[in-house]
Amino acid sequence: MLANIVQNEYWMGTLLHELGHSVYSSKNIPASQPYLLRCESHILATEGVAMMFERFSKQRGWIEKVGLKVADPAAFDEAARKMQRNQLLIFSRWCQVMLRFEKGMYENPDQDLSELWWKLVAKYQHLK
Ligand SMILES: [Zn+2]
Repeated sequence: MLANIVQNEYWMGTLLHELGHSVYSSKNIPASQPYLLRCESHILATEGVAMMFERFSKQRGWIEKVGLKVADPAAFDEAARKMQRNQLLIFSRWCQVMLRFEKGMYENPDQDLSELWWKLVAKYQHLK
């Protein structure tokens, strides 16, 4: 794993996310473990675990356990809750674009894919 570390919550979340993926991609899982535990898991499982690890960057309990001090716990918890909610809402809109773009691309690969992309971005993410 190559990581360009920046000391902030965003990059901590990114690092934790990628480490969550690495759980399933490690070449160092002992051969003594059952074969199925040493193989790549389904992408749904690896992404779910990666997203679970990513959430640690917004959990005060984890942050304090790794030795960081949180000056205002109540304010931190409230901000973290709002960030988590907003990120999930934004991500859900992004997923709408990706799903429909891929579906449209395979249904009609000869169409203007750039036009399809920006039409979906405008519709689901409200961006121009
Ligand atoms: Zn991921």
